[in-house]
Amino acid sequence: MRSARKTLRRPDDLIAAGLVPQERRAEIEAVAARYALALTADVAELIDPADPRDPIARQFIPDAAELDTAPQESADPIGDDAHSPVEGIVHRYPDRVLLKPVHVCATYCRFCFRREVVGQGRALSRAQLDAALDYVRAHPEIWEVILTGGDPLVLAPRRLAEIVAALATIEHVKIVRVHSRVPVVEPARVTPALVRALKAKGLATYLVLHANHARELTPKARAACARVVDAGIPMLSQSVLLRGVNDDAATLGELLRALVECRIKPYYLHHGDLAPGTAHWRTGIEAGQDLMRALRGRLSGLCQPSYVLDIPGGYGKSPIGPSYLRRVGGADDTARYEIEDFNGGRHAYPPAVR
Ligand code: SF4
Repeated sequence: MRSARKTLRRPDDLIAAGLVPQERRAEIEAVAARYALALTADVAELIDPADPRDPIARQFIPDAAELDTAPQESADPIGDDAHSPVEGIVHRYPDRVLLKPVHVCATYCRFCFRREVVGQGRALSRAQLDAALDYVRAHPEIWEVILTGGDPLVLAPRRLAEIVAALATIEHVKIVRVHSRVPVVEPARVTPALVRALKAKGLATYLVLHANHARELTPKARAACARVVDAGIPMLSQSVLLRGVNDDAATLGELLRALVECRIKPYYLHHGDLAPGTAHWRTGIEAGQDLMRALRGRLSGLCQPSYVLDIPGGYGKSPIGPSYLRRVGGADDTARYEIEDFNGGRHAYPPAVR
């Protein structure tokens, strides 16, 4: 029988909970020896062990395919290290930095793009955090600080409040954006105290939820998100395009609509990063573009995320969604265009009048 609220961290826990059969013990142990393993009770309860294609199980239960690293995959697939001037800071774009106060998560995703560093039990020491804040203080071009990790919402509210309050003392920092999976994988953590910890006078706080399937938005998860939004914190979402989880228009559309119903604006649909042992997750880019095309016009504009790719090597994100506009002739100042509607129909668009 599954234990009530315990996070499952060992292969034996998964077997005892009936989530994987005994025969897979060696496989799960081999993967868990290489990459972090944890499933909260909320996630475990969502899994249907009788369904071999269960989209929740696929995201969180180890699979032997993770042990195959493809030649193009990298331990640092989005190039964080190349832009890390001090421990815990990634300064890739001019006006914003990532601040990673913690490297642990409530639940570990099998496709994690930081899988070589998460789950190491490392959090920034007090001195490292002070140095990271000093870096932000010394760079007046930093307008936005993105708290990520790991998952920053595993921190105690008091610790989180200290970080947010420290950021609020930096005159040029106006926005704090928190990226988290906690509202769906452990919604009880989203207490009124935690929500209060996210806010500070002089800062606008945004919370970006990571969710990949509509089933993650359980009634408890929806209530947790409502606590955040009702407190005046706008929510956005990011999802990863995952083969066998959300790579069809009906499933993805259901997720995007569910997010908007929770007052969460879909922000990013990430093409899978080249993290080690994740090739089995990635679709082709054309498949992702076809999905975006299928959703355009059939779902409200509120439901449309930006389909993005983090360029390997640390060059940042670029939108890779389909293009609907094609130049069909004319010189620069008399260019004519053809534009595609959501049914695939093509229409001429005239040149600018001079
Ligand atoms: S919550 Fe984010 S950082 Fe943590 S395992 Fe999942 S993808 Fe990685």
